[in-house]
Amino acid sequence: MKVYKFGGASVRDAAGVRNLHRILSTESGELLLVVSAMGKTTNALEQVVEAVWRRERTQARTLWQAIVDRHRAIADELGLGAETDAIAYVAPLAAEWLEAPEPPADYDFLYDQLVSLGEILSTRIVSAYLASQGIDNQWLLTPDVLRTDAVYRDANVDAGSSERLIRNTLNPSKHLWIAQGFIGGTEQGYRTTLGREGSDYTAALMANMLDAESVTIWKDVRGIYNADPRLVADTTLIPALNYFDAVELAYSGAQVIHPKTIRPLENKRIPLYVRCFADTDASGSVINADAPKLENLPVYIWRKNQVLITMRAKDFGFILEESLSDIFAIIRRYRLKVSLIQSSAVTISVSVDKTRNVDEAIRCLSERYSVTYNVGLALLTIRGTTPENLERAKAGREILLCQTTRRTAKLLVKEDEALKHV
Ligand code: ADP
Ligand code: ASP
Ligand code: MG
Repeated sequence: MKVYKFGGASVRDAAGVRNLHRILSTESGELLLVVSAMGKTTNALEQVVEAVWRRERTQARTLWQAIVDRHRAIADELGLGAETDAIAYVAPLAAEWLEAPEPPADYDFLYDQLVSLGEILSTRIVSAYLASQGIDNQWLLTPDVLRTDAVYRDANVDAGSSERLIRNTLNPSKHLWIAQGFIGGTEQGYRTTLGREGSDYTAALMANMLDAESVTIWKDVRGIYNADPRLVADTTLIPALNYFDAVELAYSGAQVIHPKTIRPLENKRIPLYVRCFADTDASGSVINADAPKLENLPVYIWRKNQVLITMRAKDFGFILEESLSDIFAIIRRYRLKVSLIQSSAVTISVSVDKTRNVDEAIRCLSERYSVTYNVGLALLTIRGTTPENLERAKAGREILLCQTTRRTAKLLVKEDEALKHV
């Protein structure tokens, strides 16, 4: 069995869904599709959550209706009929939260119940369209087969029970199965999400559980480059890279692969192909165990939306080990995503993604330490750094923090200065 993951850009409109069909038509073996929400649907659903949370019911209904209308138009264009089953399927799931007298007490819980509907809508449409083209398939509800804990918006998958569930649910008489990326479900039957951009991770998890021969993620780029081709004009394609380099790249912020994707693949030595849905002749990139170490080609990775938090001991005496464990317990409690750590005799600085909990975490840290912070930052990681490329990257920028090892440099700069040049 192979796993194909189609991201939001690949299924953003009816033409995208038809193109997915075209890609599948060259496939003959068993295939599991993991599909994201269409285009920017997840962002739109986040707006619905905000409105429900603020008790702006009319606004929430209007925003939800716009999402429904967009999907209805796509289904219609695909010849599925305006009253498509996808919309009938999600309508009661949305109404449960849109029409409730009060929002639930936990924002993250509400978020997962509503935001998960994007993937459900997209997969219902893809499944129905493929069936209408004579391609028999089984639609799976991922929350029924990917069992997670109740850490909403950052749920942890229970691999053991999920493997049993998915193996029992796949109908062996089919050759094509279609599941949602990014979402899971608790034992109590609530939907969860695995963190934004998490569908790559879902594909890797399912591939691991089903002993798939490979995973292919279909993107709007021709593979993995040594810098984001959307940001940098002169980039080089990396045809093959090993799991270790891939994890470093993903963790540093290369949006092209979600950082959690590599581990489930590496565990079973499953190769990951990154291919372009708009140019299926291009061979793309492969991540596997045999690829040589990335050498001689500097790689530039931006991780945007960073906050630098600097803590200073109030009594001037930093006992490093104790403070570190205390600070990291708080970081863990607020589920901050750390991109950089630096310590001195009396300060500890961490750069974290600007997520919803950052303000509260800073408040909590301020009770124990003198805290200063800067927002609106971007972290540039250069792997394969040289004195020349580091100088070039530093030139004309205000550097808030710089960390270098023999092969890697990390520069924290103001976000508005981020894209000047590398
Ligand atoms: P998906 O549709 O799967 O969600 P994403 O938008 O998350 O796809 O990922 C693809 C994007 O990743 C590309 O459009 C590209 O701008 C960006 N990207 C960032 N870093 C890299 C890189 N090193 N190589 C290729 N693409 C990259
Ligand atoms: N739809 C989700 C997101 O936009 C998950 C994904 O696309 O991977 O974050
Ligand atoms: Mg993505």
